[in-house]
Amino acid sequence: MEKSFVMIKPGFLEFEPQIVERLSKIGKITKRQKMKLNNEILAAHYHEHIGKPFYEGLCKYMKSGEVVGFQVEGEDGLVEKIREAVGSTKNPEKGTIRHDFGIGEITRNVIHASDSPKSGQEECNRMFEQINQFGIEIL
Ligand code: AMP
Repeated sequence: MEKSFVMIKPGFLEFEPQIVERLSKIGKITKRQKMKLNNEILAAHYHEHIGKPFYEGLCKYMKSGEVVGFQVEGEDGLVEKIREAVGSTKNPEKGTIRHDFGIGEITRNVIHASDSPKSGQEECNRMFEQINQFGIEIL
């Protein structure tokens, strides 16, 4: 079994029904929460990007509004299948979530999805089990 953490980014919550429909064809949504992120949780979630030129802008954007996070569970291969449905960061293909609901911007790219089964476990754990440690309010 695998887990993926999927998160609809600020400004795109209106597409939640369509996104849920697509995710539900791939795996089972077992947790959902709406929240507003802060610097502490973003530093943990995006730790590999700290110091990169786009990091500050990414955090500013991710704090600019509410997000909706999901835990999606399924058979082995789930994480990769969700990544395929989400589409690439830079050039998402037609039929992917980032293409179909996006506005063609790299930072405001509609949705996050875990990039490996290991990150899926870690991100779901952080975002659902350890969320209180970051002072995040569940909306
Ligand atoms: P990733 O860890 O690949 O999901 O990247 C994290 C997020 O950072 C992406 O989903 C984008 O929102 C943003 N991002 C990644 N690369 C760039 C970039 N070169 N310029 C601006 N934003 C980026």
